Amino acid sequence: MLPGSGARTRFLQHPPLGTETIVQRVVLAEDDSSRRTLFAITHHPRLGFRRFLPHAVTRGEESMNRKALDELKQQIPLLDYLKAQEWRPARALSGGRWMGLCPLHTDHKPSFLVDPHKSLFYCYGCGRGGDVIRFAELYHQVNFPQALTLLREWCGLAPLLHAVVEFYRLQLHRRNEAVVYLDQRGIHSGEVIEHMRIGYAACGGLRSWLTQLGYPASILRSAGLVTEAGYDSYIRRIVFPLESNLYGRSIRSATPPHRFLPGSKGGLYLWEQARRYSEVILVEGLFDYAVVWQAGFRNVTCSLGNHLNARQFQQLCDGPRTVYLAFDSDTNGSGQSAAQSMARRLCAQGVSARRVPLPDGHDPNSFFVQGGDAPQFQRLLEATRP
Ligand SMILES: [Zn+2]
Repeated sequence: MLPGSGARTRFLQHPPLGTETIVQRVVLAEDDSSRRTLFAITHHPRLGFRRFLPHAVTRGEESMNRKALDELKQQIPLLDYLKAQEWRPARALSGGRWMGLCPLHTDHKPSFLVDPHKSLFYCYGCGRGGDVIRFAELYHQVNFPQALTLLREWCGLAPLLHAVVEFYRLQLHRRNEAVVYLDQRGIHSGEVIEHMRIGYAACGGLRSWLTQLGYPASILRSAGLVTEAGYDSYIRRIVFPLESNLYGRSIRSATPPHRFLPGSKGGLYLWEQARRYSEVILVEGLFDYAVVWQAGFRNVTCSLGNHLNARQFQQLCDGPRTVYLAFDSDTNGSGQSAAQSMARRLCAQGVSARRVPLPDGHDPNSFFVQGGDAPQFQRLLEATRP
């Protein structure tokens, strides 16, 4: 059974005469969401789509509120969600369907089939398939209720974060302290500020702005943008948008330097751009990323810390490539030992990994800030060791 209310199911089993004409007319007249609804409710499971049977339906059928599930799925078209996770179609098939690399296993040739009209996927490589909820379960490695929570959050968070990022970007150029800080950290070019959509959280103002836009305080608190006491969470921080989070770097030494919103840091930073290259430079921090990119190395990505989450690791392994690990060369050696163990794990997956020998006590950011230039960094890349 596909999800749908009893009334819709009965309608399908006994279609009145002329139904198709009505459906066609409505599809032409209505917007995308109505079109999706229609495709969902007019699809019949006996039409050879059995392997696509949404996982959500086979589990907890009695206990779950079907209507709420249907609504959530209609709010989140599978293709939109996949694209937000940086999945890209590789080739078009008939019927508006797409094939691409499977985000659920290490895939070298496209074996992941997506039907945007039915909002279903199936992978010919790992044999898994289902709807957007099943995808979220597999992709984030969470259980069914956790996947629902993630999807609900994603649904509400995307437009909110967009508004937040635009607000902070405007503040950046109005605040001298922000520009001075970026300059100290070696970020001088407008191009990199634009590319990374860097913003600045000054001394408040976000909450009242978002309230004017109509966001209730409860949403702002649960998103972590506003504290329980009602103040902006990000104060005097350089802010970098991530795929579904925000990284804020304090410009003051008295406060904890790093801040994220609750939830995952997500995948590798701007991975879709870096993954095109057969050689990829992996750095720990966004200030490292900024100076390396600014120096002209476009094949760079960032893991936001020297520990990669499962998804980031899988991204690095999603095709044949060489990864240059440019981790901090801390005096206590933690960056280098992290790089060493990661190089071993990558090699075990058939990915060639090389460690970049930064001078002692340096990370890529301090290397460039203290006068290093692109040819010198290039020489370090060439001096890498496995
Ligand atoms: Zn697969």
